[in-house]
Amino acid sequence: MSLFSSFPLREELTRAVSDLGFETPTPIQQKVIPLLLSQPRDIIGLAQTGTGKTAAFGLPLLHHTDIAQRHVQALVLSPTRELCMQIQEEFKKYGQHLHGLKSVAVYGGVPISGQIRELRQQPQVVVATPGRLIDLLERKALSLEEVRYVVLDEADEMLNMGFREDIDFILKNTPNREHTWLFSATMSNEVRGIAKRFMKQWEEISVAPANTA
Ligand code: AMP
Repeated sequence: MSLFSSFPLREELTRAVSDLGFETPTPIQQKVIPLLLSQPRDIIGLAQTGTGKTAAFGLPLLHHTDIAQRHVQALVLSPTRELCMQIQEEFKKYGQHLHGLKSVAVYGGVPISGQIRELRQQPQVVVATPGRLIDLLERKALSLEEVRYVVLDEADEMLNMGFREDIDFILKNTPNREHTWLFSATMSNEVRGIAKRFMKQWEEISVAPANTA
C-alpha cells in the first residue's frame, strides 16, 4: 500500500494533500493517479461518489496544468450544479499552493454575467455543466481551442439527464484535446458510445463502491 507522498506529484500538490490530512490513497486513487502521472492516456474509471474519484482525476489534472499559460487547458464536465461546485471546492483545496492557478466553475441557475467576468480572468481550468458551457461558448465568453484534457464526471448521469448532444458538441469543439478521462458509476451502451466516438485506446479501471470495499 503506497502513500500519497510516494506519488511523483508536484510538491505543491503533495503539500496540499498533506494539509488536508489525506495519507492513504483510496483504491481508485491508488490505481488512477500513478497511471495518469507516468504517461497520460485515456481512461474510463468506474467509480461512484464517495470513492475519492475527484482527487483521482483532479490531482493529475492540476499536475499537468501549465500555470504559466493563461488559457483553458483542462475542462471538467459534470451533470449538476451541486457536483460542479463540489469539484471546484476540491480543486481549490488541492491547488492552494499552486500560485497563479485559476479554476472557474460555470453552471446554470445563476446569472451568467458573473461567470463571464470570472472567465475574463483567464482560468487554466473550467468545471462546467454542459448547458451553461454551451451558452458561454455561444457568447464567446471562453474558447476551448487550447483544451488538452477533458474529464467527463458522472457520465452516466449526464446521459440520463439528456446531455448526449451537448457532450458531443463540446467534445467536437475541443480540437486540441489530447486525453479524455471518463468517470461513471455504471457502464451502459451509451457511455461506451461516447468512448467509441471520442476516445482513443483507453484503459478501464473499476473499484467497488466505497461502502462495500
Ligand atoms: P469524492 O468521491 O471525490 O466525492 O470524495 C469524497 C470525499 O473524500 C471528499 O470529501 C474528499 O475530500 C475525501 N477524500 C478523497 N480522497 C481521500 C483520501 N485519500 N483520504 C481521505 N479523504 C479523502
